[in-house]
Amino acid sequence: MLSEHFSESEMSCRHCGQLPDGGMSEVLLEGLERLREIVGKPINVTNGYRCPEHNAAVGGVSNSQHVQGTAADIWVDGMGVWELASVCKQIFDGIGEYYGDEFVHVDMRDGGASTGVYLWDDQE
Ligand SMILES: [Zn+2]
Ligand SMILES: [Zn+2]
Repeated sequence: MLSEHFSESEMSCRHCGQLPDGGMSEVLLEGLERLREIVGKPINVTNGYRCPEHNAAVGGVSNSQHVQGTAADIWVDGMGVWELASVCKQIFDGIGEYYGDEFVHVDMRDGGASTGVYLWDDQE
């Protein structure tokens, strides 16, 4: 396990199973543990680390937080995107609300120093 509730297989690249050279961001893992404590339910991770090759294949920007091991895409059973994101804004630096695919992107791009600062959603 990388932390109390998050395993290596959940956070590793979906295409090659690797983790970043320096490991996943500890600040990100701490944020996810805090989130789990607040919502009181398991946090499902659909994407954690993405290696550069996989990131390019899915059309991610080259400096993606996923490539740096500082981001995760998550969902929680019984919680809508808006509801989950509103809790995430109290913990993470970057929060993306994806209503179409029903997940929330969270990242610690400033090491947790910019809580709730970088916000976007998929609704234009
Ligand atoms: Zn990969
Ligand atoms: Zn993401």
